[in-house]
Amino acid sequence: MKETDPSPEVRYVLEQGLGCAPGSYKASGGVIENFTGGWAILCFVGRNERSHYWRKMKLSVAGIITRNGLTVPYESLCHAEGAVSDRTPALHRGDFPRCKTCQRIAHRWGMK
Ligand SMILES: [Zn+2]
Repeated sequence: MKETDPSPEVRYVLEQGLGCAPGSYKASGGVIENFTGGWAILCFVGRNERSHYWRKMKLSVAGIITRNGLTVPYESLCHAEGAVSDRTPALHRGDFPRCKTCQRIAHRWGMK
């Protein structure tokens, strides 16, 4: 199993617990430790159920303290906005396809 794959426990809950047919749902992979940017699923943001390529917003501070802990704002290459915090970590993309706009820009800029 690759670290980007959804965990077997997640698949078990979705398929056995909730009755989702295999292939009928998308599940993220696990938490990305020490995330500083790149392809990921950020909580509650993004468009079209896709993973995006995220970069830290340029701030003069390391982050902002919110009720979720230290919160670091990110912007995707396709201009979606999101944040990573202690309680809302970045997740491996798992089943989610890559955003085509982010992919095109990342390719042009030589990012992988
Ligand atoms: Zn995107």
